[in-house]
Amino acid sequence: MTTATSTRLSDGRELIYFDDGDVAKPHAEADQRPLLPRSEADTGEIRFDALTGDWVAIAAHRQTRTYLPPANQCPLCPSRNDGNLSEIPAPDYDVVVFENRFPSLGPALGVAPQHPRWGTTGVAFGRCEVVAFTPVHSGSFATLSEGRARTVIDAWAQRTAALSALPGIRQVFPFENRGQEIGVTLHHPHGQIYAYPYITPRAAVMASAARKYYDAADGRNTLTGSILESERQAGDRMILEGTHFSAYVPFAAKWPLEIHLTPHRQVPDIAALTGAERDELTWMYLELLTRLDNLYGTPTPYIAAWHQAPVDDFFRPAGYLHLQLTSPRRAADKLKFLAGSEAAMGAFINDSTPELTASALRAAAGRSAGRTNGPVRGRLLREGT
Ligand SMILES: [Zn+2]
Repeated sequence: MTTATSTRLSDGRELIYFDDGDVAKPHAEADQRPLLPRSEADTGEIRFDALTGDWVAIAAHRQTRTYLPPANQCPLCPSRNDGNLSEIPAPDYDVVVFENRFPSLGPALGVAPQHPRWGTTGVAFGRCEVVAFTPVHSGSFATLSEGRARTVIDAWAQRTAALSALPGIRQVFPFENRGQEIGVTLHHPHGQIYAYPYITPRAAVMASAARKYYDAADGRNTLTGSILESERQAGDRMILEGTHFSAYVPFAAKWPLEIHLTPHRQVPDIAALTGAERDELTWMYLELLTRLDNLYGTPTPYIAAWHQAPVDDFFRPAGYLHLQLTSPRRAADKLKFLAGSEAAMGAFINDSTPELTASALRAAAGRSAGRTNGPVRGRLLREGT
């Protein structure tokens, strides 16, 4: 069981240490930086786009955020005696979560306007957090030990529960952008968690589809659960099949590389996963990330998006946690750019077939290939069976 210790940075932001194992380490170090206290008055605004019904966060202050700093000025490395006073006061840590210094949402909390129309603005309530996966500056999530990756999952779970309970929060979204190609501004392995005061556009579409399916099935089946069952039966898009989770390339994959990792049990979010489920999720997620890099032998940029049920009495019963892991990489040296059809119309064109992508990902088995208790030895991972 991971332990969590909360403290405050010198400007008032919260920082939480998550320690591997059962015993909390002492975390007495104070932030030595003379930062000005942050103010709720600095919170940005949201504007309602009446053409689409979407909220847009206007966060001009983020233009000044840290951009690809040299390693000796990294804000996510531990603070050192030689003068790099980073965001993390401690000289060492396991996993750390803290409030983003340049948030798109927050720090003010409250309820977004309920019946917006053309011209409606609101305060950008919410919270944006940074998750530092490791004190080590180089590497990636895929190179974390299983123990450390498990601590990150516990941190996501704890933050999901805590953020869901904040006033006005309607959706909690843990994610990782990996690779400079897709806009990463810090090399240190890290992810983020956004807590929104509204249901995001894509989540809203998915939540509506899920609720409609759930109602048509009189609450006996969920859309994601039925899709998972069908993929496991068909088999030709499966990548990994475990006791608690399965990974597959979705039937209508939009991206050159797209993997969905779904628990076998309907749970709304990471916080609802049991210890055994988190254990399996840990190695399966590491294995999938390793395979993405194995495909071409070099690091693959990706977005790891944890889809959790909205914090909402209406949508939540039909909601179903799953990971959507996507990459624009379509060849060793080629990325797909979202151009006219995709960016302007949301109409995706995939140059590969999901079945071929799944076959390539089955063949790219990685670090857990020697496991004896997992599905990597199973039927689904051997080509031609
Ligand atoms: Zn660093």
